[in-house]
Amino acid sequence: MDTGAFLAHVKRQPWYKDQVAHVEAITPRAARYADLDEPLPSALSAALEKLGMARLYVHQARAITTLRGGRNVIVCTPAASGKTLCYNLPVLETLLAEKGARALYLFPTKALAQDQLRAFEGLISAAGVPVHAATYDGDTPSVERSAVRRSAQVLITNPDMLHAGILPNHRAWSRFLRRLRYIVVDEAHTYRGVFGSHVALTLRRLRRLCAFYGASPRFVLSSATIANPEEHAERLTGLPFQVVDEDGAPYGGKDFVFWNPPLVNEARGTRRSANSEASQLFTELVKAGTRTILFARSRRLAELLYVYSRERLQETDKALAKRISPYRAGYTPEDRRRIEKALVQGDLLGVSATNALELGVDIGDLDATVLTGYPGSIASVWQQAGRSGRRGARSLSALVALDNPLDQYFMRHPDIFFGKTCEHALISPSNPHILQPHLLCAAYEFPLTELDIKYFGPEMSGHVAALVEQGLMHERRATWYLSATVAYPAERVNLRSTSNDPYTIVEEGTGALLETVESAVAFFQIHPGAVYLHQGETYLITELDIPGRTAHARATDAPYYTQAIDLTDIRIRKVLEERVVGASRAYLGEVEVVNRVLGYKRKRHVTEELVGAEPLDLPEQPFSTVALWWDIPEPLLNDVAHAGLDLSGGLHAAEHAAIGMLPLYALCDRNDIGGVSTPLHPDTGKPQVFIYDGHPGGVGIAEKGFELLEQLWSATLRAVAECPCEDGCPSCIQSPKCGNNNEPLDKVAARVILRGVLGVMPGAGAASVSG
Ligand SMILES: [Zn+2]
Ligand SMILES: [Zn+2]
Repeated sequence: MDTGAFLAHVKRQPWYKDQVAHVEAITPRAARYADLDEPLPSALSAALEKLGMARLYVHQARAITTLRGGRNVIVCTPAASGKTLCYNLPVLETLLAEKGARALYLFPTKALAQDQLRAFEGLISAAGVPVHAATYDGDTPSVERSAVRRSAQVLITNPDMLHAGILPNHRAWSRFLRRLRYIVVDEAHTYRGVFGSHVALTLRRLRRLCAFYGASPRFVLSSATIANPEEHAERLTGLPFQVVDEDGAPYGGKDFVFWNPPLVNEARGTRRSANSEASQLFTELVKAGTRTILFARSRRLAELLYVYSRERLQETDKALAKRISPYRAGYTPEDRRRIEKALVQGDLLGVSATNALELGVDIGDLDATVLTGYPGSIASVWQQAGRSGRRGARSLSALVALDNPLDQYFMRHPDIFFGKTCEHALISPSNPHILQPHLLCAAYEFPLTELDIKYFGPEMSGHVAALVEQGLMHERRATWYLSATVAYPAERVNLRSTSNDPYTIVEEGTGALLETVESAVAFFQIHPGAVYLHQGETYLITELDIPGRTAHARATDAPYYTQAIDLTDIRIRKVLEERVVGASRAYLGEVEVVNRVLGYKRKRHVTEELVGAEPLDLPEQPFSTVALWWDIPEPLLNDVAHAGLDLSGGLHAAEHAAIGMLPLYALCDRNDIGGVSTPLHPDTGKPQVFIYDGHPGGVGIAEKGFELLEQLWSATLRAVAECPCEDGCPSCIQSPKCGNNNEPLDKVAARVILRGVLGVMPGAGAASVSG
């Protein structure tokens, strides 16, 4: 598309108010090809020729060469760069040479597995080779399961099925495991946090069983761009890896627009709604005949944006209003094909979709993407933006900013966004809450010995001793067996949660299980009266049965969301590390967090108007996790006092802003992190700011924050100092999830404190701070 002409057109519109904060012109790139030292089998090269992919891109050739050399590979290139061939070709090459060989493909969702099966079958049929690939997941009918187990050469499944269905039944799978040559882990960046840590241990159990059956398969991981591909691959599998990240795919170039909704009230920091701005931009693109995808953060918002946009189009062109459609996760493959086809043929011009779509699912070539709000990670921005511009033509992407610290920070510092390598994907397979249940699963598969330290790390012995103490295992001649009372441990371990006894949300009437919620956050999210978002659908929690660990929910159209009001205490259990940072001292340690949810508020969407508040009577919830905290040096306390500033308000504001900025460094959601600030902490007798990992046992977020604390403070200081508001707003120090109703907050004190801990002289501008 002619992006320049479109932007010029937008700037002439009466509603244009300098929303374009930045345009990054990304230059086109020609394809770079490479040849293999030893060509592919002729059937495969013929198939590639037939599919119009006669030559291999540099990264594809390098991945294949590395695998042929017997090493594990992680391919870390952008969306649509042809990553699947990096594993499909070497797998097929092996299967053609060795009929009995097997490969296991893991995808994070069933929908992706289905899509990939289709792609793989396309390649097989072009090659005209008899290779049997099949999916194996919860949807596979039981009558077909044993046939799949017996004859599938390429088995496509998900980590949950591997964990609970395949590994515990490894005797039935022994033939498959013995012949396993490749393990493919696609979308490896999605395996982070709690889920990633569980998957890491599941993969160690898989390796252990492969070794038991005498196989040592190679791993191929593919990932969106992350800052630490090698480290992530090694922590996920426990094996050494070679990184392939040189992208040889052609690129048509892109204009990437940072779009900041105009300020309505500068002193209060209020901006025009990002939803309405995004819909405006979307309809303008559709009017220009541009095939566009509009991303929203939830299914409800995707629907709302569709309705707004349709109304807008109806005012000018009724026919055009019929050429947009919502497009959601949960659609059947047939529905997706239908929409994709309509987009390709030009019957449809625009779709509004949820973020869920960013994950691999192929919907064809588009010209423009509009992102409503920063989706939480730079990696996700590139994945969503990568949905437009696949064919090598110039494309447009726009990020419409929300009013939170990170979105606004990027609007002011596009150089940081475009210059930054993506976030670190974090996992913590040594988290005891995650490791111990997997040790039980491993012991069920076959008894543990000292040799298994090679899979589960040196901490294994201590945890095994703890499990013996709890009566869950027993020892005989340096071998640890599962106790007879533990029936089928995998059944009790949910890969997407850290607690062993999570709460279950059940739909009223149908009794359908919607999802499980960790007990640590249950009272915040599923208290009676809470509005809960499940796969973009809105539910009202009607009842919470605490002993039964069940919440009852019913679908609702409530025009509001709910927010818990809570009181949080934090106690230091053990300091793990401490160091001097800037002019302060910082600590990393084990803490106990005690939350008490006191009530909740109902707030209207978009306008944020308070529509009601209710008290709740819920018990306290203690959990142990990892936190970082820091001291406020004595002279700084004096500065704050002399300036007549509010110390508590300053600490609280600095805590909120730092929590808002931390996802810049660690691949996590703001909701994964909690904080406590206090002018006098009972364990230290000093003023303190704590930032803790919201998952019991921690998943590495606090560690990364501790390691990069100076950078975190600098970025936080900039976010606060550069915000044009007077006394604080959602773009700097207010937090949407503050349990204390954003009180007290003192923006000036926060600035003084952040400068002070960094050791920046008073009067020096925030801009002089590096980072
Ligand atoms: Zn502000
Ligand atoms: Zn707060």
